[in-house]
Amino acid sequence: MSADNWAICPKCNAAKIAAKEKQLLDAGASYGKVEPAEYLRMLEAANKPIDSESTLREDYEIGVDTNGEFSVDYRCLCNDCKFAFRYKHSEAVGTVGDKPTNRERKSTNAMLGGAERPLELKLGKGE
Ligand SMILES: [Zn+2]
Repeated sequence: MSADNWAICPKCNAAKIAAKEKQLLDAGASYGKVEPAEYLRMLEAANKPIDSESTLREDYEIGVDTNGEFSVDYRCLCNDCKFAFRYKHSEAVGTVGDKPTNRERKSTNAMLGGAERPLELKLGKGE
């Protein structure tokens, strides 16, 4: 089965940004302390753009079934760092004649290995 989407992993991306910041600081601190050619090499390496590979596999399903049950199931897993997250929600949205107050909501989200805090899944807020 193929993935629904490949995205940039937030955990890998944060690590790459931190590494790039350290590289820039190290290059700046080396000025006058290393050979000029080495300083230029460090500066050039530090100024290269971050290589943001799409290592985060995303799979999702969303929809309303014939019984009036809305459901969303989102899963992601990073091939590099194994960051994983799952969000699952279902809610009776009713059939003709049902009142909205009869709604029943069930939702779960779970972090799997490697995650430090849950991601927010934003639905329908126009972002
Ligand atoms: Zn990752």
